[in-house]
Parts: sequence; structure tokens; C-alpha cells
Amino acid sequence: MSFPIDKIRQLFPILHQEVHGKPLIYFDNAATTQKPKAVIDSLNGYYLHDNANIHRGAHALADRSTRYFEDTRVAVQHFINAKESAEIIFTKGTTESINLVAYTFGRKFINQGDEIIISTLEHHSNIVPWQLLCEEKGAILKVIPINDAGEILFEEFEKLLSPKTKLVSVVHASNALGTINPVERMIEAAHAVGAKVLLDGAQSTSHLEIDVQKLDCDFLALSAHKLYGPTGLGVLYGKREILESMPPFQGGGEMIKEVSFEKTTFNDIPFKFEAGTPNIGDVIAFKYALDFIREIGKPQIKEHEDGLLAYANELLLPIKGFIPVGTAAEKVSVLSFNIHGMHPFDVGVMLDARGIAVRTGHHCTQPLMKRLGLEGTVRASFAVYNSKSEIEQLAEGVARIARIKN
Ligand code: PLP
Repeated sequence: MSFPIDKIRQLFPILHQEVHGKPLIYFDNAATTQKPKAVIDSLNGYYLHDNANIHRGAHALADRSTRYFEDTRVAVQHFINAKESAEIIFTKGTTESINLVAYTFGRKFINQGDEIIISTLEHHSNIVPWQLLCEEKGAILKVIPINDAGEILFEEFEKLLSPKTKLVSVVHASNALGTINPVERMIEAAHAVGAKVLLDGAQSTSHLEIDVQKLDCDFLALSAHKLYGPTGLGVLYGKREILESMPPFQGGGEMIKEVSFEKTTFNDIPFKFEAGTPNIGDVIAFKYALDFIREIGKPQIKEHEDGLLAYANELLLPIKGFIPVGTAAEKVSVLSFNIHGMHPFDVGVMLDARGIAVRTGHHCTQPLMKRLGLEGTVRASFAVYNSKSEIEQLAEGVARIARIKN
């Protein structure tokens, strides 16, 4: 059966508009994806019919909101195949999920002289929390180098591992280049020296099948807004025994069992890590995004997106002056590039004039750009609703722009 692209596009109202008099072509999906109507309707429906604070209410609306909220937790559990829904913690996004681990696991288990390993490919949100922790604790941050294609050097990673390694925190799929890291092998190697592993799944979760039990990662961070869900919402997955061993992140309502002025006891996971009124409406709407992905099927989505990336490479690589950035063998559908003699921002503005939305700059990966000797790139990132004809228009636009200087 052919991929039902027209049907899928109908589910995304935002795509059907003109920008600068041209039909919108949205290729900024690594920054955030668009939302299907079911997600938008859920948000509206929640505030029209169900709005109530969750977990302690005696009334019908509170009961309904609580059930819908917890339904999403179960949907996320199934989405990443966690053992139980208590291992799913709602956060503001990948950034907060990583910070949660740094502040709780990091402060308790990482001490002077201990080592944390990250890679050259990391987003700033998987660099800075560890730098802050290392500064506070006197721990050491080690960085896995990459080759010019944007792939980590596995042997160098193995050399960095030692009994001093307490945590390996790596991106599963790079937002800047699309590189998919060999995380199965990395997790195995890290566990062999007794280190825990956090996967930054901000990009991978929308493209790849994720099975946290099979991967055996200790933590996984993701953002709902990169998964066709609402902004301001993310997830931290953690193995039960590790989450239970960690102190709370923030103090407040919901995360306690009992409070007295002398001593407070904490709630069970996941609530121990969810202080205060959560982002109820967005959590409830997120389930509709996960349903959308499940109904199409991750393998079908991956096949479609791989096809788009292959087609983009076929059309763009021959263009004179086109410089691909990041040519890893294993990639998600991210095409980073530059045009010889032109600043990425100028290329982005010229594509925008054609209705084509791309991202330009360092993509929150300044150390990676420095390693590649670049100020930034133009990034076109593809999602489930993008089509081959949109790729053709990107190629035509890039060819015209490149001709200015090449
Ligand atoms: N990690 C990666 C690889 C990302 O691409 C992003 C967002 O671009 C993040 C982390 C941060 O995600 P958020 O801003 O949703 O917290």
C-alpha cells in the first residue's frame, strides 16, 4: 500500500496556508513538528469541558481529568515500551528531563573525580547541565570525538570508559546532522564499567522505534512538541530502581506523602518528581499525537522519511556549490548543508521567500559546529507530512540560490 500522504496532510490544518504568496513548505520539523487537528481539538475540548485539577478532586471533572491525564502516561509507557507507567515522569521537555537527572541522580551519585561522558554531537541541553554539575561536584566531563561525517568514534568512546565513569549521556539522533548513534553498543559498553546511560531522545523518538527495555537505557528524555504533540511538555523515562534511589527534584504539592514542619515524606514515583500542578491539558492532548503516530506506524513513517531524505540527496547533491554537512551512514531525515560562498542565514531568508521554512545557524550545537569548522548550516528536516514534490521545490530553490555565487 502506498503511503497515504494526502490523507495525512489533511489532518494538519496549519500546512494549508500561503507564506509570502507561496504554499507553505514546512521543513523545520527538527525544531518542532506541526500538530494534527486531533491534538488541537483535544486542547480545546479539555478547556471547554473537562478542566479541573487532578488527583485529589472528589468531583466528576477532576475524576475525568485525572483519568485522561493518567491515560497519556500509559500511552507513553507503550510508546517506548517501558515496563510500567510509574517509570514515566512528565516534565517541560527534554531540557528539563536532562536537568532533572543532573540535579537528582547527579547530585547524589556523582562526586569529585567521577566522570561523565557526552559526545561532540550534543545539543546544548545535554552539555550545560553536566558542566554545571561537574563544576559543583569537581567531576570531569569527557567528550567522545567524531569523524568528518559526523559519526562518533566508537573506539575512542571505549577508551574514555573506566570505573570512574558514572554516567554516559548521549544524543540518540543528532538534531544538527541527523546522525543516529550506535546506542545499543554504547549502552552495553557503558554498563560493562558500571556506568548509567541517559539517551537524549528529542529527535530519535519521532523517527525510530524505541524500546527502552530492549535498549536497556537507564534514562530517556523526550519532548512532546517534536512528536506532533504540544509545546512545554516532555517525558523522562527512568528505570524504577534508579528513580526510587534518587532524591526529589522540586518540592511542593503532589510530590509529598505527608508534610509536617519537622519532616516531610515523599510520594512514590512518578509523583515524587512531579511537584505542583502539571501541564494537564497538554498531557491529555499528547495522547492524540501518540495515537496518530501509532495509527500510521513507526516503520511506515521511517520508510517514508528515509525516502524523502534519499530523494533530497539525489536532487541536491549534484547542485554546484551545494555542500552537505553530516554524511553519516545511519541518519534520521535531517539534511544539513551550506552553499559555497553564502551565509546560511541568507539562504534561509531566500528559501523563506519561496514559502520554504528551514532553520539556519548553529542549531544549539556550537561545539559541534566548531569541530566541523562551521559557523552554522541550513537545516531542512523532514516529517511524516512532507512530500516528494516539496523536496523538488526545495531542490529548485536551492539550485537558484546557489547559482548566485556558483
Ligand atoms: N536535544 C536535542 C537533540 C534537541 O534537538 C532538542 C531540541 O531541539 C533538545 C535536546 C531540547 O529540547 P527542548 O527544547 O524541547 O527541551
